[in-house]
Amino acid sequence: GLLVGGQARPTVFAQMSAKAAAHDALNLGQGYPDDDPPALVAEAAIDAIRRGRNQYPPGAGEAELREAVAEHQAGWYGLRWDPATEVLVTTGATEALAATILALVEPGDEVITLEPFYDQYAALIALAGGVHRTVPITSRPGSATGTGSAADDGDLVLDVDRDALRAAFSERTRLVLVNTPHNPTGLMLWVEALQAIVEEAVRHDALIVTDEVYEHLTFGPAHLPPATLPGAQDRTISISSAGKTFAVTGWKIGWITARPELITAITGVKQWLTYASGAPFQPAVAAGLRMDPTVFHDLAADLRARRDLLTDGLRRIGFRVSVPEAGYFTVADAGPLGESDAHALAERLPEEAGVVAIPLSAFYRDGEAGDASSHLRLAFCKSRATIEQALERLESWA
Ligand code: PMP
Ligand code: GLN
Repeated sequence: GLLVGGQARPTVFAQMSAKAAAHDALNLGQGYPDDDPPALVAEAAIDAIRRGRNQYPPGAGEAELREAVAEHQAGWYGLRWDPATEVLVTTGATEALAATILALVEPGDEVITLEPFYDQYAALIALAGGVHRTVPITSRPGSATGTGSAADDGDLVLDVDRDALRAAFSERTRLVLVNTPHNPTGLMLWVEALQAIVEEAVRHDALIVTDEVYEHLTFGPAHLPPATLPGAQDRTISISSAGKTFAVTGWKIGWITARPELITAITGVKQWLTYASGAPFQPAVAAGLRMDPTVFHDLAADLRARRDLLTDGLRRIGFRVSVPEAGYFTVADAGPLGESDAHALAERLPEEAGVVAIPLSAFYRDGEAGDASSHLRLAFCKSRATIEQALERLESWA
């Protein structure tokens, strides 16, 4: 009864990965990398299995990982959290988001997301009986942490129309969910847009939930955690995970930082979802989070080169391409190739071209992408060989 609006269907990522398998197509759809994790991280997990770290970890997560998360937040962002009471380890960001929404949203409460949004948000709001309000994103020249004045090389940041933002809030607003760096656009939310969101949250006594899973995959300016904004930390539940940072999406280790009373409420739900998971992966992720910052920068630089390979190639073929500043994905407009319906195109492409992509409409409520209905999301977290071959196939198809 709770599965509202067709949430029981397989996700668009599962559907499109199935198509890739069925047509032996190159999968630039679902966002998982071809890369191996950093050797230190992989070895730490193997070592943990050998050392017998194979039984239930504590429900809140292994102390060493909670401490590493707290140190990481302090070292990278200057955010102080008590690892004993303000950090919770979860089964990926997926469970972190689920436990948070289910713990904090009562039936009829309103939850605001930007649009387009990661598909899980709408499903979780529906499962909690919440009411989903959206604010359309806009983009403008600038850099996320800078002034936002016109940038030299056409960098874009995400912005929100202030009137639309104000109109989305009401006395029923329970929380606003902010995803930066953003899936699907690969852009970061401009600091002034974040400030406006924090101001509205304070005015309506709403909570802020963040999804920062792409925090370390940035190609220009560094990530700006919303909790660092003045007035934000006490009302913010910050969520991230190891999957993207260390190329271990199958390990499903995530974490939450928030004030103790919020962590207690979220733990109350999390204990009935998985209780605990990933025993040998937790010390490995702790070791990863403590790696030298240069390792993180090298991983991002490597990904940046593949971003350029894919975006340059798509542009040559005739797509209109936006250059992402972070994450795994680029958005390509197939309009210039005479394709106005990206949903239909994504259905045909696996068979016609041997390439899988995700229509941007999958990230909109009711699948209505408006101006973006001819846009596809393509992943560049794949090997150079896969990207090159996909570009060749798209070139022959176009
Ligand atoms: N949030 C966003 C924006 C994502 O793209 C993803 C998926 N990769 C997740 C959350 C889920 O993260 P995890 O794999 O850690 O559960
Ligand atoms: N986050 C991944 C993406 O956007 C998909 C994760 C999933 O399939 N649940 O492609």
